[in-house]
Amino acid sequence: DQSVNTTLKERLKEIFGFSQFRGEQEAIIHSILAGRNTFVIMPTGAGKSLCYQMPAIVSEGTAVVISPLIALMKNQVDQLNAFGINAQFLNSTLSKAEMNKVKKDTLNSSLKLLYIAPESLTKEENLDFLKKANISFVAIDEAHCISEWGHDFRPEYRKIRGIVDNIGNLPVIALTATATPKVQQDIQKNLQMEDANLYKTSFNRKNLYYEIKPKVEAKKQLIKYIKQNKGKSGIIYCLSRKTVEEIAELLRVNDVKALPYHAGLDPQTRMHNQDAFLNEDVDVICATIAFGMGIDKPDVRFVIHYDAPKSLEGYYQETGRAGRDGLEGNCLMFYSYDDIVKLEKFNKDKPVTERDNAKHLLTEMVSYANLGVCRRRQLLGYFGEFLDKDCGFCDNCLKPTEKLKVQHEVVLALQT
Ligand code: ADP
Ligand code: MG
Repeated sequence: DQSVNTTLKERLKEIFGFSQFRGEQEAIIHSILAGRNTFVIMPTGAGKSLCYQMPAIVSEGTAVVISPLIALMKNQVDQLNAFGINAQFLNSTLSKAEMNKVKKDTLNSSLKLLYIAPESLTKEENLDFLKKANISFVAIDEAHCISEWGHDFRPEYRKIRGIVDNIGNLPVIALTATATPKVQQDIQKNLQMEDANLYKTSFNRKNLYYEIKPKVEAKKQLIKYIKQNKGKSGIIYCLSRKTVEEIAELLRVNDVKALPYHAGLDPQTRMHNQDAFLNEDVDVICATIAFGMGIDKPDVRFVIHYDAPKSLEGYYQETGRAGRDGLEGNCLMFYSYDDIVKLEKFNKDKPVTERDNAKHLLTEMVSYANLGVCRRRQLLGYFGEFLDKDCGFCDNCLKPTEKLKVQHEVVLALQT
């Protein structure tokens, strides 16, 4: 076993240029290599991709990686190719010739990782070809998409188990960054992997400071905050495209280098604005939640929720983009009852099946915003993790009296 370990570590250095495994990465890789079903729950940025990339590279045959977004797949495939690993994706954007090349490389086992969307997986012709291939294991990334209780349910994800069984008797590794105990159970049940090796690490982001302020004169507060943090990188999340544009414009007229990002912009502008933020041509990006998935900027110093988020899962993900380098990370939410009413209205337009869950997610968020107890305790408790004492590093811990004043102001604001 010792020699296997050295080899893995050597390969880590040789291929990825990292000198150490992080956290439980190595144990997870061994679990997969031993052919065990494996369930990984680790926060965003922890390094989940490596947990399936590494065993895929050192195993015979091809690993199938199921991922919900073409952009995420492309990102990883480009990265792996740059490291000299043969990885490809199979989806509707490929030409016939490209498709054939991917299939050929899989069938002769020169392909190490085949990324595929669940929609493509259900196609008959793809299924036939996968049955003929030598598949080492199946990785299911963003596995919370399986659960209706999560914040990002994809019905096709629930078909994966059946399809995998159809391909062969293969070990499965499921990975997610957002699993409340309920979602976790749902994933394990649906994938029939109650017996899986479970790796769950803490969700505590100790360097993040959580703070909520009443949304009173929010624009004034926002500008003051940004000016105090001049030159630092930050993300401002807004609910609508219109607000995104409005806030970006407001910042620009106040001499802040800021750009908007939302799905209503044409792809070229979106790409340009994202790059401008990543390359630090601008300090601030104002965005809808369309921004951020798979984005890896380590030195984001603040994340502001100008509008209240729809769920604590979303809030945790979005605030999690601050301070990924372990240094300063400030998370500020502006909260108002009006925003909740707006979100409730959106929920009413949803199909019945989603409505109850959306309501439940929102209620949890509202109680987080309203309660005067340690934020970190509440947030981690929501993910099934318990702190034995208050964190001492959130607004409720550090400014309990201000909190009372704030609640009083909210009451006054509501009355006027
Ligand atoms: P997750 O999927 O858990 O959000 P990623 O797989 O995208 O995280 O990894 C986040 C970042 O951590 C990436 O930039 C990745 O290259 C880096 N990383 C992963 N493992 C290691 C490691 N052992 N040493 C150093 N950096 C690592
Ligand atoms: Mg990931």
